[in-house]
Amino acid sequence: MSHQPDLIIANATVVNSTGRQEAHILVHHGKITELIDAAQPVPAADRTIDATGKLVIPGGVDGHCHVAQVTGRFRTLDDYRTTSTAALWGGTTTIIDFGIPRDAQETPLAAVLHKKELATQSRCDVALHGAVVSWDETVPWQLEQLAAEGVRSVKMYTTNRGTTMADGDTILKVMREMVRLDGLAYIHAEHDPIITDCTEQHAQDGRIGIEHLHRTRPELAEEISVKETLAMAEYTGAPVYFVHQSTPGAVDLVSQARERGIDAYSETCPHYVTLDDSVYASTFPEWFACCPPMRCPETVAALKERLAAGAIHTMSSDHSCYDLSQKRERTDDVRAMPHGLPGVETRMPVTFTAMTSAGASVEQFVSAFAAEPARINAVPGKGRIAEGFDADLVVFDPAEERTVNGAALHMGTDFSPFDGKALTGWPAVVVSNGRVVLDADGFHDPGAAGRFLHRNGFRQHQSASDAAHLPAAAL
Ligand SMILES: [Zn+2]
Repeated sequence: MSHQPDLIIANATVVNSTGRQEAHILVHHGKITELIDAAQPVPAADRTIDATGKLVIPGGVDGHCHVAQVTGRFRTLDDYRTTSTAALWGGTTTIIDFGIPRDAQETPLAAVLHKKELATQSRCDVALHGAVVSWDETVPWQLEQLAAEGVRSVKMYTTNRGTTMADGDTILKVMREMVRLDGLAYIHAEHDPIITDCTEQHAQDGRIGIEHLHRTRPELAEEISVKETLAMAEYTGAPVYFVHQSTPGAVDLVSQARERGIDAYSETCPHYVTLDDSVYASTFPEWFACCPPMRCPETVAALKERLAAGAIHTMSSDHSCYDLSQKRERTDDVRAMPHGLPGVETRMPVTFTAMTSAGASVEQFVSAFAAEPARINAVPGKGRIAEGFDADLVVFDPAEERTVNGAALHMGTDFSPFDGKALTGWPAVVVSNGRVVLDADGFHDPGAAGRFLHRNGFRQHQSASDAAHLPAAAL
């Protein structure tokens, strides 16, 4: 080794998705340069952090974050500085945001370029997803431009008629483009005619307030939309990723599709395996307004079983940061209220607690929290502690329990849907690109140090990372 390391995490129990080892982790110029067996002496370094008795995992990769998103009258309150700061506090060192056209005038390309500009304020590394709402003849060219920018996935909604919904023709054509451009289709799946009709029926009966949210969006609407979308993926050959799956049936459809050889992936969010629909009968039901809504206890238990069994690939926050005054503005009508929950900072402890309490290993937790989000989204250099990977590291004591106090967290809001819950899996030290940003002294703001990450092509990355556990960009 030619240089003294900038940083060593010594005596670490290093946990990757594939297994664990006792090692000293050497860091130089933002990269992991070497792992030395912990039986060897600790070499000299500018700074050494002793991790005896602690676990060290790769920095989290949150594949589903909404930053400064405008939806109708509402705008989420987090900007890049606050979202990325909260992410780092929560052990997440890479976030993937969406460039979603605000209205029919904004093109998919303009939406992404706007987000890329905002992301220059980020404290952690950032990648982006694109989004297409309606097809026109410029879309193939725009998607080529996005791919050239390192934006290799396109989100489409099968619901939200009149705002973000893409029709079946658009989804099919964009899937074809994803095959051509080596990208990935990202799908919010809820069957729009059923959601629309069910919501209208409830409105006619005067049952349209927040306490009825879960009844207006039935499980079967999610499952039939997943089924239909999988058929389009099978027909076009496009890889497809389902965001925030909330039912075991939806997850099983993806598992069955994979058995047929379809490249299909399942994401869920911490709230869907932790909270059930009794929250809508609680004192503050507006805290829990999101789509899909929380499901019944049996569904939550079965979804958590799928997660522990490894059937769900990723745990993402779906971070959407509204505060209580926004949440309380239209509790009378599920059609008018802002949907989405703050979660980028609590993703690690909620996921860790949910998974380990369901019998999953720490390795499985690392898979859903960091390794699979990096692999499936083709983000080079992330999701693994190994030589050549970025020095994004989280040190934590798995036994330390803390109770969530939303007002004391760092997201741009005043509550957490997990307020009052006692959780384990809180980061003690966070290293982002070789910088110690969180330690016993608190948070050390790295400034706007986050980088915009160019993602690899989807299949290019999968075959490269199958061939060697190295970041594909380095091959
Ligand atoms: Zn979302």
